Amino acid sequence: MNDAALFGLTNLPYGVYSLPGTAPRVATRLGDDVVDLALLLDDDVFARPSLNAFMAQGRRRWDEVRTAIRSALADGLPADGVHPIADVTMHLPFEVADYVDFYASEHHASNLGRLFRPDSPDPLMPNWRHLPVSYTGRSGSVVVSGTDVVRPCGQRLPAGESAPTFGPSARLDIEAELGFVVGTGNAMGSTITTDDVEDHLFGVALFNDWSARDIQAWEYVPLGPHLGKSFASTLGAWITPLAALDAARIDVPGQVPAPQGYLAMDPPWGLDIGLEVWLNGELISSPPYATTYWSPAQMLAHLTANGAPTRTGDLFASGTVSGPELDEVGSLIERGKGFLEDGDEVVLRATAPGANGTRIGLGEAAGRIRKAHA
Ligand code: CA
Repeated sequence: MNDAALFGLTNLPYGVYSLPGTAPRVATRLGDDVVDLALLLDDDVFARPSLNAFMAQGRRRWDEVRTAIRSALADGLPADGVHPIADVTMHLPFEVADYVDFYASEHHASNLGRLFRPDSPDPLMPNWRHLPVSYTGRSGSVVVSGTDVVRPCGQRLPAGESAPTFGPSARLDIEAELGFVVGTGNAMGSTITTDDVEDHLFGVALFNDWSARDIQAWEYVPLGPHLGKSFASTLGAWITPLAALDAARIDVPGQVPAPQGYLAMDPPWGLDIGLEVWLNGELISSPPYATTYWSPAQMLAHLTANGAPTRTGDLFASGTVSGPELDEVGSLIERGKGFLEDGDEVVLRATAPGANGTRIGLGEAAGRIRKAHA
C-alpha cells in the first residue's frame, strides 16, 4: 500500500512543519499533503512551533478537534494552507519533557538476556514479569525523523582485555520502538490508573532508540543504560492520536503471574501495530507490536504508581519491539548479522488497522549514520 493511502481521513496525525523562511506551525497530514491547522480551524493554538499547548487542553478538546478536522476535510482539501509534503520541513512535533524507556517485549528481553548474561539460567531477571522495567533517558537528545546521527564515542572493553579504551562505537545498533506521548499529566502525589490512561495519553509515534552496544555493555552495571543510548533517539515527525487506533486494539499476550492490582486492566488492551525495519532500502525485519507483554496503559500506570508527576510532553517508549521469529526482531544484535556502518540509513515504518476497514500508517522514523567526530 502506498504512503498516501495510509494517511486518509481515518488517520489524521499531528506534526509541526515549516516552509522556507516561515515559523513552524502545527499541521495534519492527508495523503501526501500537509494541512495547516491554524488556518483550517481558525485556531491560534496551532500557530505554534509545537503541539504542547494543544495537548495541554485535554482529551475532550482532542476529540472535538479530531471531529472538526474530519468535517473540514470531508469534501476535499481547502484552498489555503495546503502544501505537498515534499516542499516542507518537518520539526520535532512537541517539546519532550521527561523521557522514560521501557523494556516491555518479552522476546527482546529474553534475547538480550541471553546475549548479555550467557551464564544465567533464566534470560529474564526475577522482576521482569512483575513490573514493566524501565530507565530514565535524556529528553534533550530526542531528534525528529530525518536527522543524521553521529556515531558516538565512548568507553568500551575490547574482548579479552582487562582495561577499557575510548573511541568510536564499533557496535552501533538500532532499537525499533513505539513512543507514547503524554498529553496531560498528573500532579505529584497522584497516580494515573490503567482506567484513566486514555484521558492522559495523546498519541503514538515510531521511535528509534539508537544504541551503542559496546559502550552499553561496559557501562550499564549496576545503574542501567546511559551514554550508550543518550547520544540520539529518533522520533517520527507525525503523532498518531490514540483515537485513530481504536480499531487496532487487541488483547495483550497472557501475563503470568497475573499483574498486581494497579497494573490490572479491564478490559486488557494492547495495539496491533506492525513495524518494519528498513536498512539501506531493504526490509530486514517486521516486528509485531501485538506480541509485546506490557501494554501502554500498564507502563503509564507504573510510571506514576509512586506518585511521580507526569506532564504535557512526557515521552515513554515501549522498548525494542521483537517478535518470536528472527525476521521479527527490532535490533541488529538480535539479528546477528553485524552492526551499522557509516552512511547506513535506517527507516522504521509501521501500519495498523484504522476505522472502517482502512489501514493507517505511522510517520516514518528515519536516520543516517555519520562518521564519528575525530
Ligand atoms: Ca530501548
